Amino acid sequence: MQHSSSPLDQARASYEDHLDTCRQCAADAVPCAVAKHLRRVYNNLGRAAAHGAPDGTGPRGR
Ligand SMILES: [Zn+2]
Repeated sequence: MQHSSSPLDQARASYEDHLDTCRQCAADAVPCAVAKHLRRVYNNLGRAAAHGAPDGTGPRGR
């Protein structure tokens, strides 16, 4: 039923879903390795999205 349009949404969904289901993350205040990895992927995608499409108009500096 999930039909996320963007990879960024999917990455965030995976991260939040992990936090929901992971015992280690729930028991400990520190996220586990998987949570760190998922969050990193999400952050990278967020960065890419903020900088514009990878194969879009191209870099324009500022
Ligand atoms: Zn975890």
